[in-house]
Amino acid sequence: KGQLEFQNVSFAYPTRKDALILQDMSLSIPAGTVMAVVGPSGSGKSTLVSLLLRLYDPDTGVITIDGHDIRDLNPYWLRNHIGTVSQEPVLFSCSIAENIAYGAPDSNTVTAQEIHRAAQIANAYQFVQGFPKGFDTVVGEKGVLLSGGQKQRIAIARALLKNPKILLLDEATSALDTENEFLVQEALERLMEGRTVLIIAHRLSTIQNADAVAVLDEQRVVECGQHAQLLGNR
Ligand code: ADP
Ligand code: ADP
Repeated sequence: KGQLEFQNVSFAYPTRKDALILQDMSLSIPAGTVMAVVGPSGSGKSTLVSLLLRLYDPDTGVITIDGHDIRDLNPYWLRNHIGTVSQEPVLFSCSIAENIAYGAPDSNTVTAQEIHRAAQIANAYQFVQGFPKGFDTVVGEKGVLLSGGQKQRIAIARALLKNPKILLLDEATSALDTENEFLVQEALERLMEGRTVLIIAHRLSTIQNADAVAVLDEQRVVECGQHAQLLGNR
């Protein structure tokens, strides 16, 4: 389960109704598969994520999960079934464990048990390796400088805690150096297993494991197919 579909979606931002970002755009991502979206800067890739998270709704057309219009789904259900890892992870001034626990189903009331579970997941996936003061490191503490890669791994552990069916990765490795990109990529691959994944990518190296690649341009998907096939066309 976790089939994701954009059906004839048209959208313009409320502040710029004259500028259509998506026009009659359709894209189908079968449950449990990995779809990468590429396209020029400004073609609307991040907008797809905003629409899925319902920061905005389409002007026309629908977005469905397993056939249900996401506007009809309970917002809490949606939040707990969609995990996101973005370019700049948002971390709070609390311990790493607590930061991870903000991915818990009801993160307004993070319990000691959830923090314990967060710690278990982080340990199982070796997410805490390379953190100087271990798991209790306070993220906002002076003198504790987390690298971009460490922050990203915390964000991944947070997404993992929800065990989401659907995962949105928006340029999750693009701000990192090569070594961190490798570590984060490794963590991401484990996170992606068995889930429906939408990857927004600039670098082709980050989409090698995608089952399919969609090219977004001129307000719609202009091409969709397997990686090798598309590369051959370009
Ligand atoms: P991409 O991720 O492909 O670079 P985006 O989805 O970020 O593209 O942006 C698509 C277009 O929408 C761009 O022209 C961008 O300037 C515009 N845009 C993005 N966010 C907003 C917003 N909140 N309000 C108005 N326009 C926006
Ligand atoms: P539950 O049904 O309560 O989610 P599970 O038996 O599925 O329990 O999982 C046992 C433990 O493993 C829980 O702490 C859960 O959070 C964690 N877990 C479950 N699925 C995953 C996953 N895909 N990746 C990492 N940890 C997971």
